[in-house]
Amino acid sequence: MNDKRIALVTGANKGIGLAIARGLGAVGFAVAVGARDEGRREAAVERLRAEGVDAVGVALDVTSDESVAAAAKVVEQVAGRLDVLVNNAGIAGRVDEGAQDPTTLDLDVVRTVLDTNVFGAVRVTNAMLPLLRRARSPRIVNMSSTMGSLVLRTGPVMAAYAPSKTMLNSVTAQYARALAGTNVIVNAACPGYVATDFTGFAAPRTPEQGAAIAIRLATLPDDGPRGGFFDDAGAVPW
Ligand code: NAP
Repeated sequence: MNDKRIALVTGANKGIGLAIARGLGAVGFAVAVGARDEGRREAAVERLRAEGVDAVGVALDVTSDESVAAAAKVVEQVAGRLDVLVNNAGIAGRVDEGAQDPTTLDLDVVRTVLDTNVFGAVRVTNAMLPLLRRARSPRIVNMSSTMGSLVLRTGPVMAAYAPSKTMLNSVTAQYARALAGTNVIVNAACPGYVATDFTGFAAPRTPEQGAAIAIRLATLPDDGPRGGFFDDAGAVPW
């Protein structure tokens, strides 16, 4: 795996994450399939390998410091560096009993959603940064959503999920500022409204369509944009 560029995708066992892994594999990356459940992880790795992708499973629960540190060790052993990190793992959070109506907001749901969607991305990014810094053209892509856009305010009222993506966008901008003098390029992506478990498969776009913007940002040239928020149509208003 050493001569190939290597990408780690979190939440890569299904949905958009699996499609990102497949797409990066198709353009020549070795892919580390980050997933928390062993059975689902190995099934995804087998599926990707059957499609010709150079895939390796990496146990990864983005809410666990220990799991994230262990995953960084595995990537170091397998490849010695990391070229691309896609922070894709995300959850919607409970919505029953007004849990995400702001007027009856369940703060435990907010904490749970932030722990995965925001702190998870920070945990994984910071654990992987030493490996990313060893790559020639390192890229980080954070899977966000137009639901987090303060301008667009798309989708249903969800006062845990939507703000989690707003914060992820803001954190992305802060990373871009901190890494401005380096070769590490960080951006946020919106996949559009995609048919996955997340949306009950009741959405118009395929996982492959949702993955396309992440793959584009993961393979940006060295003079590509930094600290932006993009979908297939271009820049998304914050
Ligand atoms: P999905 O099918 O539900 O997949 C989510 C993935 O994240 C799964 O692999 C899941 O693993 C993983 N995950 C959740 N919590 C995790 C944790 N603590 N540690 C590691 N992995 C974890 O959802 P999706 O539609 O593909 O969504 C992927 C990303 O796109 C999310 O960040 C989502 O917010 C974003 N997004 C989706 C849409 C859409 O329309 N689908 C729109 C905008 C943004 P398990 O299988 O173990 O649960």
